[in-house]
Amino acid sequence: MSDLQKSLSHARTHQAEYLEQYKELLAFPTIGADPAYREDIVRAAGWIAADMQRIGLTNCQVLPSEGNPLVYGEWLEAGSDQPTVLVYAHYDVQPVDPLDLWVSPPFEPTIREGNLYARGSIDDKSGVHVNLKAVESMLAATGRLPVNMKFLFEGEEESGSPNMAPWLEAHKDLLQADILIVSDGSNDNETPLIMVSARGIVSAEVRLHGPVKDLHSGSYGGVVHNPAHLAARIIAAFHDENGRIRIPGFYDNIRPLTDTELAQMKAVDDWTMTTALRETGLTHFWGPAEIPFQVRQTAQPTCEVNGMKSGYQGEGEKTIIPAEASFKVTMRTVADQDPDDLAEKFTRFVHSFDCPTIKIDCQINSAKWPFQGLTEGPVLEALQKAYETTYGRRGLLIRAGGSVPIIGDLSRILGMPLTSLSCGNGDNGHSPNEFIRIKYYHLGIETVIHFLYNLAGNALQQL
Ligand SMILES: [Zn+2]
Repeated sequence: MSDLQKSLSHARTHQAEYLEQYKELLAFPTIGADPAYREDIVRAAGWIAADMQRIGLTNCQVLPSEGNPLVYGEWLEAGSDQPTVLVYAHYDVQPVDPLDLWVSPPFEPTIREGNLYARGSIDDKSGVHVNLKAVESMLAATGRLPVNMKFLFEGEEESGSPNMAPWLEAHKDLLQADILIVSDGSNDNETPLIMVSARGIVSAEVRLHGPVKDLHSGSYGGVVHNPAHLAARIIAAFHDENGRIRIPGFYDNIRPLTDTELAQMKAVDDWTMTTALRETGLTHFWGPAEIPFQVRQTAQPTCEVNGMKSGYQGEGEKTIIPAEASFKVTMRTVADQDPDDLAEKFTRFVHSFDCPTIKIDCQINSAKWPFQGLTEGPVLEALQKAYETTYGRRGLLIRAGGSVPIIGDLSRILGMPLTSLSCGNGDNGHSPNEFIRIKYYHLGIETVIHFLYNLAGNALQQL
């Protein structure tokens, strides 16, 4: 029997045992955002590290951070001619309220109709446990792994990973690898989903201060500069009539799409546009029509006003010149745009409207990096082949228009190619009655096993 077959067979004969262990992990109330659960977080981290030690990983440790601890472990005996794979997942979970909507308590894992219900069952303790049980099966059945592996499990992802960037900087050497696998999120029922990119985000608030108080529009109209008018001028200047952003340098440093990427996006253009028409209730879309819809939606930067405030909003009329106006903006960035650079360009553009009559304040609230994963090549192919074997179909490459800042930080700071591998299949990730489909929990373990053996066939220089 081949090592692959031995590993798969081990995973199959230990299904019941693995599921019992998974329930143990799910029972820890690891709500990362709530300090009341700090002790449970620490206990869960210890539980994971102990399990890693037991299954034969080395250098297993609970590593402190400014916030919740991280768990690390490795196995580096596959030889220097084999790639080193770093797996990232998170063991913290979302809060559970409203509690009364849960059919069974969130931290008492319960099986109903082939699903395992518990907070964290799909997001993202599956990413932790499925990967560990895959390597447990391989180590127990064959005594080795086909590639070198490192594992990093975070405890603050659901709180926006506030301490991760400096922590990653400080642990760069420990985490050095050839490829990063992000194990978070869920596959669609029958279809594996591979997230290949997400945009970064810069958020800003602009405040315009005019007179010290609202003024009589009869007495002062025509001589006092109205902050609402200037706000409107600034906002109107963000785009040309065709929807192209006019902030100088806004499109600098965008990594050009490869022919393959462009073809992948064009292939889903009709489908995404039809879906978007249905969801928005619109009949027409906006923006540069020469750029494919899916490219505009996921691979181009944006500048959107999210809210505007000024003057009188009540019933009837009120004859004033408002003292102030303000608006909020978010910009989405794409690889390889530096969000701090874009923030600076935005600020400079807003201040190009500086005048003696109104004082402009421009405040940047956050600036987060985009990420771009692999869209072709041997690593992605190793994963696609694994999905073909286990799911019976290749994964769908998904580009997120939104942002996943932690992956942006991981890929930027660690500087390695990455792909996502969702280990489970379930739903209600941030809602009551979160669950994982048990069939796909086990299939996830087999997918990881196949993937790692497929990867081993690839020479390092191909990565
Ligand atoms: Zn998650």
